[in-house]
Amino acid sequence: MVTGPALTFRLLVAAGCILGPTVLFLGFWRLLGRLREGDLVARLADRGVARQPDVSMGDVLETVTDASGGPRRCERCGVRNRTGASACRRCGRSLE
Ligand SMILES: [Zn+2]
Repeated sequence: MVTGPALTFRLLVAAGCILGPTVLFLGFWRLLGRLREGDLVARLADRGVARQPDVSMGDVLETVTDASGGPRRCERCGVRNRTGASACRRCGRSLE
């Protein structure tokens, strides 16, 4: 049975192991938020180097559910080809 200072030490170590990753994650999250809203991005956007990130949830859903970016079916033989393929994998017909 562990008692006294050793028990206290073990409890502190356990609490650190549990809370540490959470605190690090929240700190990282806040850092990313500050970077996104920082004036460096606005200055780069003014110079035309970078684009001002104004991504909305609608943009994300539109990209995820965009059917044109998915697997494409060949018009000649009907085979489903992988995303981004330029030619049919069976008959070689151009998918452009
Ligand atoms: Zn084909």
